[in-house]
Amino acid sequence: MLDFNNTEIAFSSKSQSELKNAYLLFNTIKYPWLVKCASIGSNIALKIHFPLAWAVKPTLYKQFVGGETLQDCTKAINHLRQFNVLSTLDFSAEGEQTPEGIQATFEETMRSIDFAKGNDNLAYAVFKPSTITTDELLAKASEKRSELTIEEVKAFREFKERFMAFCQRAYENDVRLIVDAEDYCFQDALDELTDEAMRKYNKKRAIVFATLQMYRHDRMPYLRRILDDAKEKGYIAGVKFVRGAYMEAERARAAALGYPDPICKDKKATDDNYDEAVRFTMDHLEHFEMFMGTHNEESNYKLARLMDEKGIKRDDSRIFFAQLLGMSDNISFNLANEGYNVTKYVPYAPVRDVLPYLIRRAEENTSVAGQTSRELKMLQAELNRRKKVNR
Ligand SMILES: Cc1cc2nc3c(=O)[nH]c(=O)nc-3n(C[C@H](O)[C@H](O)[C@H](O)COP(=O)(O)OP(=O)(O)OC[C@H]3O[C@@H](n4cnc5c(N)ncnc54)[C@H](O)[C@@H]3O)c2cc1C
Repeated sequence: MLDFNNTEIAFSSKSQSELKNAYLLFNTIKYPWLVKCASIGSNIALKIHFPLAWAVKPTLYKQFVGGETLQDCTKAINHLRQFNVLSTLDFSAEGEQTPEGIQATFEETMRSIDFAKGNDNLAYAVFKPSTITTDELLAKASEKRSELTIEEVKAFREFKERFMAFCQRAYENDVRLIVDAEDYCFQDALDELTDEAMRKYNKKRAIVFATLQMYRHDRMPYLRRILDDAKEKGYIAGVKFVRGAYMEAERARAAALGYPDPICKDKKATDDNYDEAVRFTMDHLEHFEMFMGTHNEESNYKLARLMDEKGIKRDDSRIFFAQLLGMSDNISFNLANEGYNVTKYVPYAPVRDVLPYLIRRAEENTSVAGQTSRELKMLQAELNRRKKVNR
């Protein structure tokens, strides 16, 4: 029976020292003031090129990152695979949005799509659109398309070429490709390109996946439009559901610029919206493939139950559950143990480049209500269980 409190299964992949290190780490990052200091300190260190690897590598990096390169991640990938958990390699460098930085990210992301070709240990490839262009361009192309200058029109065309090159390569490699979602102000342009790519590449199966942030109250209408479009144009829509990671910033931007808040009014409204999207997709599964990215236990239980109720096989390749590496192992490993498809996002990048991602993880683990205490509770329970067994 599926039980996320089963810590023996949850941490079967962890040695005693790994378990203790994880406990120590979560116990440290539970203090918001400490994470704030680390965030400020790391920003300064990055600016003055102060070496950080000695402090970050054995702690945050070890917990949340697969390695510096694709090859480096092989150990983590094989390890997860032993427990029937597949990997989704995520090049998480958040470098400067210079032409050189963008080109380097473009090439590395292409390598990651090639790396996934024919690799049974990998479930998807993924990319973050803002890493192959600039924030300013994405926002303007979404919000004020008609005001783009000639130069900007050219830059947007080049961005589109890079975006579509990923989709084309994923299609040729028969690899599923997720387009991550980011700021609200970028999203109209990204939806447009993702819809276009799905129409082109998803004729036989879902190759391109759109990410829907269900903390946005306008995402159910978008999901319905996707379904209508998929039916009309004859393709399988790929949808990834998350709640959304930028709530505070979105509310602040909306207030500062005087447009309506795009986020659901409260947590319950977001949860209801998330549930509705999953149910809707399950009710029309012949037109969809679904990626369920959440650390929320209730959401995971609900989908697992719904699949069983509908008589959908647990390893139906159209449905994947997903968590981030180093978080909510109790969900991932218990689901995998019960035969559901599970993948972990496995970020990789050199220490300096992945630092913003790591700081976000640390902040999320202080700001997401209850996440750290849940992790700590589980780790403590498993440490106690092992102590008893070894007595
Ligand atoms: C595999 C994976 C991939 C991801 N990819 C993306 C991505 O591409 N883009 C992205 O934005 N995020 C992404 N995320 C992060 C995700 O959006 C959430 O921020 C994170 O997972 C926490 O939400 P939850 O469902 O796991 O848990 P929960 O703890 O149940 O939910 C927390 C979330 O609820 C919402 N929320 C909290 N309080 C309120 C409130 N007062 N009003 C309205 N809503 C509220 C927020 O979205 C908050 O992050 C990803 C997460 C995973 C696991």
